[in-house]
Amino acid sequence: MKCDVCGVREAQIFQPHTGRRLCRECFIADVRERVRREVDRWGMFKPGDTLLLGLSGGKDSYVLLDILAHLHDTSRIIAVAIIEGIPGYNREEDVRRLRSVARDYGVDVIVTSIREYTGHSLAELVYRAWSRGYRVAACTYCGISRRRILNFYARMYGADKTVTAHNLDDEAQTAVVNLLRGDRTGLIRLHPKARPASPLLVPRVKPLRKIYEWETATYAYIMGFPLQETECMFINTRPTLRARVREALYEIESRRPGSLLRILNIIDELLEEEAEKLEPDALGSCSKCGEPTSPARQVCKLCEILSRAGVERPLYALFSQKGEEQPL
Ligand code: SF4
Ligand code: ZN
Repeated sequence: MKCDVCGVREAQIFQPHTGRRLCRECFIADVRERVRREVDRWGMFKPGDTLLLGLSGGKDSYVLLDILAHLHDTSRIIAVAIIEGIPGYNREEDVRRLRSVARDYGVDVIVTSIREYTGHSLAELVYRAWSRGYRVAACTYCGISRRRILNFYARMYGADKTVTAHNLDDEAQTAVVNLLRGDRTGLIRLHPKARPASPLLVPRVKPLRKIYEWETATYAYIMGFPLQETECMFINTRPTLRARVREALYEIESRRPGSLLRILNIIDELLEEEAEKLEPDALGSCSKCGEPTSPARQVCKLCEILSRAGVERPLYALFSQKGEEQPL
């Protein structure tokens, strides 16, 4: 069977949400074009912007790197790889591999870790919290730390935007979780037009937000990007609501292809005006580290969860208290 787009090469990939059969070349071109349209639609970045990419070393990282290298001047791209510190996962050799692929694109990768930033690896933080009876999901420590570290480097390098590799599955899940929690502001903040809650936060964009996870996996496979062989040992401790939503959405998507795209597209349309009107929060600053907090809090979320793991003086806070130039 011939490709539905070029009509010349053999079709190898079925795209359920369009009903088309594509050859490898037309599939890659289709994904790149959809990302370009999404970037342009929301003005995610403009020529000359400095972009700071957060790369985990997973397949989506390579896909993001490849697509951005086709869309943007690579001399204006910096990447950061964060080693979480999870036994057997995201090890040094994965990052070395990522670094060498990125070098081929002309992109430098800064390697850092949760330990370097907070003083402890992710696994240490999680076990410390659990041993104190705080049964928090490892992903909470992981997500909050990674966001902070990215923002730290984005500010340090004067980046205009931070760029993450979240795909359509991630975004649709987050949107539905926000809906189920009744978190209106959280839902609006997901919108690509929403500004960050504080001037201390560098705006974050997600160019792959309309690309299915199976598509990023297929893209990575076709391009020969290395696949991460090990799974995070904390994957089953993910917050239950999110895990349920993920399962339910996969089920719905398999019966009605295109559902995830329709969910995100309709939210994008309905909330565009709201997102543009959303003002930055009137924020206070954390009494420990100086980072933004909501006015109701004395300490920021990261300082709070570290404190619950018995870490009262995280490295980043010590640095800011020494009277050195505030890096955060
Ligand atoms: Fe981090 Fe959770 Fe992903 Fe593991 S599963 S890498 S803890 S976000
Ligand atoms: Zn703090």
